[in-house]
Amino acid sequence: MGFDPSRFAAPVAAELQCKLCGRVLEEPLSAPCGHVFCAGCLLPWAARRRLCPLRCRPLAIADLRPVLPLRSLVQKLEVKCDYSPRGCGRTVRLRELPAHLAACRYGPEPRSGLPGPGRSGGAVVRSVLMQRIFLLAQIFTDPWEAKSQVEKV
Ligand SMILES: [Zn+2]
Ligand SMILES: [Zn+2]
Ligand SMILES: [Zn+2]
Repeated sequence: MGFDPSRFAAPVAAELQCKLCGRVLEEPLSAPCGHVFCAGCLLPWAARRRLCPLRCRPLAIADLRPVLPLRSLVQKLEVKCDYSPRGCGRTVRLRELPAHLAACRYGPEPRSGLPGPGRSGGAVVRSVLMQRIFLLAQIFTDPWEAKSQVEKV
């Protein structure tokens, strides 16, 4: 599932949007045909259908590749602070958002030295999700090693 387009300060080019979720590419993965989707959208699709979501060509999970230049393009786009409804007028690059949120004075709780579960919850959930997606990807390339890791998690 990509990033919500309404979070971005400027309209996002269609090339940076995922045709599966209609949102802005998160961890873009490309199919052998060159079509690009979010990892979180394409992996479950590829596991079930084994065909490009745009119906152009068959695909195998082992053929999917991260598209690092697109990922860094998206990371450089300006997004509004999560706390803009609470009055923060800042826009920051997506990759700088976690640092800004940790320091934003419009955040829900006063700053403290220890990251509490309430404050960084969103980011934590997201990284656990990405971990699972990559484990899922590994299951298809290296079943035995990935399975033992999944059991550990
Ligand atoms: Zn997507
Ligand atoms: Zn395709
Ligand atoms: Zn802010």
